[in-house]
Amino acid sequence: ETLANQIAAGEVVERPASVVKELVENALDAGAGRVDIDLEEGGARLIRVRDDGGGIAPEELALAVQRHATSKIATLDDLEAVATLGFRGEALPSIASVSRFRILSKRAHDPHGHALEVEGGRVDKPVPVAHGEGTTVEVRDLFFNVPARKKFMRAERTELGHIEEWLRSLALARPDVELRLGHNGKATRRYRGGQDALIADDRLLQTLGEEFTRNALAVGHEAAGLALRGWIAQPAYNRPSADQQYLYVNGRSVRDRSIAHAVKMAYADVLFHGRQPAYVLFLELDPRRVDVNVHPAKHEVRFRDARLVHDFVYRTLKDALAQTRA
Ligand code: ADP
Ligand code: MG
Repeated sequence: ETLANQIAAGEVVERPASVVKELVENALDAGAGRVDIDLEEGGARLIRVRDDGGGIAPEELALAVQRHATSKIATLDDLEAVATLGFRGEALPSIASVSRFRILSKRAHDPHGHALEVEGGRVDKPVPVAHGEGTTVEVRDLFFNVPARKKFMRAERTELGHIEEWLRSLALARPDVELRLGHNGKATRRYRGGQDALIADDRLLQTLGEEFTRNALAVGHEAAGLALRGWIAQPAYNRPSADQQYLYVNGRSVRDRSIAHAVKMAYADVLFHGRQPAYVLFLELDPRRVDVNVHPAKHEVRFRDARLVHDFVYRTLKDALAQTRA
């Protein structure tokens, strides 16, 4: 069991940023309105993620750290239309198998919280603990028992950079959630959250900067059950780079060659060749038309009608960009 988890960890847990991603996604799946991330030494020493979500029942704490125990998928039908960020039930057991792990949780109506410790895969009994409503997961000494992996961890700055970059991509997608990041005891990032449109603009400014925001062209189009919205940089924006390309499919940040190609073509047709476009794009479609279970870390998706999606993105952006020249 521990070995199987450690093998799975090899696919899901590449570095501290992957741990942060999995833990924060769980917080979001639990309906959190606020997520606090605290790190020590770039996450190598400590990653702590606290949320104010629905919490976990005491009798389910042990289950949460067991392999393929997910509360999110009950039938094969659910897998056909995944609505949550998680669904494979392997993140927590994988992370717990390669760290000193503790999970604390309390639901609204529980009289107090419960905590459960796992060290290198060995699961303790839950014990009562003082904890507010929601869940905290602490991951200490990542890869302490997998020296070969520990070797691959980079300098504190580098690992922190990966985490900040991931948090930027999340901040763009979830303006409704307040996000905080602390490192070595200092508050390093704070994204205030809320429902109004100003917050979304604020996030754009905070993540991509003033120059992008000033030159951002808002996009919004729907057809054939596909919806695309977001922002693309206009030609006046002169420092587009590959790291300012944010694509989300049904709210999930992904890399997709075909869509990246569609965007590039739209730019090339209308404006200029060879430049890297900068964009933040949200594509929404029926979850049944996209397979998110392609890769354990879920960085990729597969479209049932890839050609249609490609052409839709291409046309939408081409039309939007053409208007800026008219
Ligand atoms: P998955 O997200 O794929 O279901 P995980 O291993 O990430 O699998 O988590 C296992 C289970 O633990 C989840 O299905 C959920 O029931 C529970 N869980 C994990 N983190 C939280 C959290 N922050 N709040 C509430 N429940 C959680
Ligand atoms: Mg998960």
